[in-house]
Amino acid sequence: MKLTVLGATGSIGVSTLDVVARHPDRFQVVALTGHSRVEVLAEQCRRFRPVYAVVGSAADAQRLVGMLTGLGTEVLHGAEALSQVASLPEVDAVMAAIVGAAGLEPTLAAARAGKRVLLANKEALVMAGAVFMAEVRRAGALLLPIDSEHNAVFQSMPHDYAGDMPRSGVRRVLLTASGGPFRTASLDMLTTVTPEQAVAHPKWSMGRKISVDSATMMNKGLEVIEAHWLFNAPADKIEVVIHPQSVIHSLVDYEDGSVLAQLGNPDMRTPIAHALAWPGRIDSGVASLDLFAVAQLNFERPDPVRFPCLDLAYRALRAEGNAAAVLNAANEVAVAAFLDRRLPFLRIADVIAAALDAVPHAALPDLAAVLEADRCGREAAMRALARYTT
Ligand code: NDP
Ligand code: MG
Repeated sequence: MKLTVLGATGSIGVSTLDVVARHPDRFQVVALTGHSRVEVLAEQCRRFRPVYAVVGSAADAQRLVGMLTGLGTEVLHGAEALSQVASLPEVDAVMAAIVGAAGLEPTLAAARAGKRVLLANKEALVMAGAVFMAEVRRAGALLLPIDSEHNAVFQSMPHDYAGDMPRSGVRRVLLTASGGPFRTASLDMLTTVTPEQAVAHPKWSMGRKISVDSATMMNKGLEVIEAHWLFNAPADKIEVVIHPQSVIHSLVDYEDGSVLAQLGNPDMRTPIAHALAWPGRIDSGVASLDLFAVAQLNFERPDPVRFPCLDLAYRALRAEGNAAAVLNAANEVAVAAFLDRRLPFLRIADVIAAALDAVPHAALPDLAAVLEADRCGREAAMRALARYTT
């Protein structure tokens, strides 16, 4: 299988290459993309010898060329090049692991080219759900979820599931959430949270943006919207369950009372290997689950007072149209400001709520409308930010 890895230098990208390296006879890397971590990308190129490597700027491209003398890898840069390597005719599968809205267009390009799309970049689906799913269907792309919860739901759904929950006897989708680093923190403590505390996730090691999303539980909100599009599940059939051990990755509740789940150690190489090999199974490097060491599986309801972002996401999903794109854009602006120490942790939700209130409802018929909603969401969030920044 010939692969493009978008976001190769990030947490998911590195885990993907770890799995790929275990199966040199099975996978061949055609293109790797990074943005600013040029040294990491250079090292990956030396190891996997891709035909193409993509970075963000012309200056970084020049640096990378200097680091790859004699290797034969063609170095490209900029947003267009990302879409180009995502849709190369010789590529079979694209790992979509760029963080945030920047990943939308290359991920969409992979779908349009009918690839096997391994979707980690949930923001793409949150922003552009209807447009994205229409392209997947039109082009006959195979969309496989990498997000551990959605990968678990996919594994627990009937093997021929075609988006009709009642017909398949599916009652509900239950998404588990670890609760993040502040599951038991008091509201008082949350007022003084630092970026260092917010990115220190108890169970998963991830990029900075998704780590903050996990701390606010916006990550679970984005995942509710992601589940809606992936499984054609209405908002009231998607429930969030806090499960601090992060061993059950999600569950599907059937009409007959059966509940099917996927379990495993919290390591993204499992869903990555699953999607790379589907419908087969390959070694991911992840150890067997030791149930005796786990000993207990606990469940709690999410607290809407400490985690208002979850309700904001449900609100955006129910509002339809541009609301989820506005929510996603405002969240990206707010999280960046928090990581920059310009916005207090508890104000992240206020900025998003203000953006949802400020941007008028609109339909999202095409990519242009999605990008416009993203722009409006960012602008509205910037205005709200001015009120709250320290
Ligand atoms: P990281 O921050 O670790 O990596 C992000 C990747 O995107 C890096 O390769 C980065 O390049 C690249 N990138 C950043 N900005 C741009 C841009 N403007 N243009 C092109 N490339 C860019 O994130 P994660 O790997 O943690 O997450 C990636 C995606 O996967 C996110 O959407 C996240 O929600 C999702 N996900 C992640 C999980 C995890 O366990 N990490 C779990 C489930 C989903 P560089 O570093 O070179 O600047
Ligand atoms: Mg997840």
